[in-house]
Amino acid sequence: MKKLFPLEIPSGSYSPRRPTCCTIDSPCVRCSMIRLTSHRFAIFEEKFGRLPDIDDELFFDETRAHPVRASDEQIRHQIFAAAEANGLNFATLLSYLGLSSTIGEISN
Ligand SMILES: [Zn+2]
Repeated sequence: MKKLFPLEIPSGSYSPRRPTCCTIDSPCVRCSMIRLTSHRFAIFEEKFGRLPDIDDELFFDETRAHPVRASDEQIRHQIFAAAEANGLNFATLLSYLGLSSTIGEISN
C-alpha cells in the first residue's frame, strides 16, 4: 500500500518545537525582531482594525488616521515599549534597525 505521508511521527517522543538559536530569556537578534514585529502587528491591528500590508509602516504615527511612518524619536519609543513588554534588548534592536547611530551622537 502506497504511503501518502512517508514521514512518520514518532510516538511517545513528542516535544514542542522551539528555536535552538537562543533561549527564551535571551533571544538572538532574529528572534527579537520576530517578537518586535508581532508586537507591532498587534498594535497596528488594534489601531486600524486590520493586519498591516507589506507596504504599511509598523512604526506609525499613532495620532494619524492612516499608517504614516513615525519620527525616529517616536520609533525609538515604540521599540523601547516593545522591548520592555517582551523582554528584548533595546540596544540590540536599535542597532539592528540602524537607529542607534542617532542616539547620543558625538560630532568631532
Ligand atoms: Zn533565536
